[in-house]
Amino acid sequence: MPVLYIGHGNPMNAIEDNEFSRAWIKAAVDLPIPRAIVCVSAHWESVGTEVSTAERPRTIHDFFGFPTEMYALQYPAPGSPEMAEEICAMVKSIQIRPNPDRGLDHGSWSVLMRMFPKAELPVLQISLDQTQSTQFHYDLGRQLKQLREKEILVVGSGNIVHNLPMMVWEETAFQWAEEYDSKIKEWILADDHQSIIHYEKYGKPAHLSVNTGEHYEPLMYILGMKEPGEPVQFFTEKIWGGSVSMRSLRIG
Ligand code: ZN
Repeated sequence: MPVLYIGHGNPMNAIEDNEFSRAWIKAAVDLPIPRAIVCVSAHWESVGTEVSTAERPRTIHDFFGFPTEMYALQYPAPGSPEMAEEICAMVKSIQIRPNPDRGLDHGSWSVLMRMFPKAELPVLQISLDQTQSTQFHYDLGRQLKQLREKEILVVGSGNIVHNLPMMVWEETAFQWAEEYDSKIKEWILADDHQSIIHYEKYGKPAHLSVNTGEHYEPLMYILGMKEPGEPVQFFTEKIWGGSVSMRSLRIG
């Protein structure tokens, strides 16, 4: 099973017909049909790593100041407590904590609503342990690689360049954002994961781009599941609002 990283950007992409939502729909059409979906979203941070175990995960509307219709959206995909158990057993380095109360945040559903609109496939989420390093997230992704053989689609949802304080509501791209986004593409194609993990060594463009780590970290899981030399396809390569990269990619 291929793995995906989706640059989710504005929650409105869940309902707006635009170049991003259209590309997500196309990406899903091109995939083999998975048995289930595991999403690592920027919008679930915790202390320790958790997995959602609810049979019926609720739709979480974790954003403010959006049109009323956004708060009425539901993504009624089932969960899979059995698969959550398998995930816990698969990881040896840490103990993943089951979370029966967790629903699906907009990092998951705003994208999945477009990709799998029928909401038939079970969806689980794995949280980002906010106390851990990028290397930790990458290593955890490595251990979760077996999910691919089990025909489970893993989707990392964030934004490679994500600096909300600097965002502007216009069609523009800051030079540092473009520079770092292109650099990432280059590193991914060269399988140079160490440079991506230790992004801080790249200096100011990297610091501005990875302003807070949570939108970058889902990419670590996806890269951790990549075999060297495996093909990569990029889609929605664009900087939005000056400081948010919508770059999405498929591995495999
Ligand atoms: Zn986000």
